[in-house]
Amino acid sequence: MTQAKLNPGESVGALAEHNPFEFGEATLTVVPEAGGWRAVHRDQPCGAPAEIRLGDQTIVENCHFYLDGLGSGQALLQKRRAHRRAGAAVVEESGLFPFGRELGFRQSSRYAFNHLRATFDFEWPAGQPVERHLGVGSLFLPGQWQSYFCLPPARHLAEGAAPARVSIPAPPTSGETMIGHWHRPPLALVFRRADGTRVEVGSGSDLWRWQQSLGAGPESGSYKLMLRADGIRVVREPLMTCAPFTPAAQAYRFKWHLAWDQDGGRQLPTEGGRDGRERHELSLASGELPAAARRRQASGTDPAVREPAAACWLAAATQREIKRRVRQLAALPPAPRILTIRDFSPGFCLDGSHLQRGRRGELEHWDLDAMLELVAWMRRQLGSEWQVAAADDRLQDELPSLAGLFRID
Ligand SMILES: [Zn+2]
Repeated sequence: MTQAKLNPGESVGALAEHNPFEFGEATLTVVPEAGGWRAVHRDQPCGAPAEIRLGDQTIVENCHFYLDGLGSGQALLQKRRAHRRAGAAVVEESGLFPFGRELGFRQSSRYAFNHLRATFDFEWPAGQPVERHLGVGSLFLPGQWQSYFCLPPARHLAEGAAPARVSIPAPPTSGETMIGHWHRPPLALVFRRADGTRVEVGSGSDLWRWQQSLGAGPESGSYKLMLRADGIRVVREPLMTCAPFTPAAQAYRFKWHLAWDQDGGRQLPTEGGRDGRERHELSLASGELPAAARRRQASGTDPAVREPAAACWLAAATQREIKRRVRQLAALPPAPRILTIRDFSPGFCLDGSHLQRGRRGELEHWDLDAMLELVAWMRRQLGSEWQVAAADDRLQDELPSLAGLFRID
């Protein structure tokens, strides 16, 4: 019997009907209606959550950005806006480094379910060099961690690397030990504590932006895990350079995400009768989409020979088809129903036309962001009569972001 996690429809948009924002002295805290976790934004350091708590534990600290010696702590927060959009709680923050050429930044932190999707922008001034390091979405995981699951960089997957679980050794008594290092961003790293607490630190869909390293060229990024006695420092640097490099004056965007849970949630069968609910399926594996909407995973592949690949959820044709089918289901007479999504597993893709209509050539991306967004949309469309489940996936059990979409609490 296929197992999957289900979530009752009534907990859809747990953030939607409730004010998820608590304003304090120089802080803004995001609190979902169902409780369980909270995320604290501070005026200083600014520009990303300073702390995420799950139950009574702090699981993430000090999400930050930096340019060489200047970090989030020196940045000046000029504007913060908190609002709800499509069932998510959104915190938008912007400011600048009030020194020299005044490098500007903007971050949008979008919270839903048990995840955060961040979009970070630099407004790069003319003539501003990076001497050594530019960090975005670096953070600290406090406490003791047993292992991490690695979904490797897309290029490594294309070359045959497999996702793997890695044991974390005993920490050094002083200083730091490097326990992981990549020059391209891993798609996701999921850290696990002995009590089942998990934190997923992942890249956004825009892998190509991270890999362009603000124009410095391939392999100019640095992604490291530094183990310390009190936790793990996760370093994400889209640019690490040995000689000063001056990016072109323009806007640079980077997306990343976090997700968290404990013990993954309850497992329920997706096959067989359950509560007398009528069953429906959403499958994109049957060749009903144009080949151009499928994932292209090998460089130079002819679109016509992509038939066996799964659909890329970032492709406009895929999104149109999913929305068309879900709207049909939503129009059915009210009754307790279950929708099972088949082949629900994110993957990387090189087809640049999925990102922008008419765009040619290869741009590396992966479609987890689109899956999180579309499932949230799907559940709002279907409403509380429906339960939504996913089956036949390979990564749902490994990634808290996916598990959280279908969880029963
Ligand atoms: Zn694609």
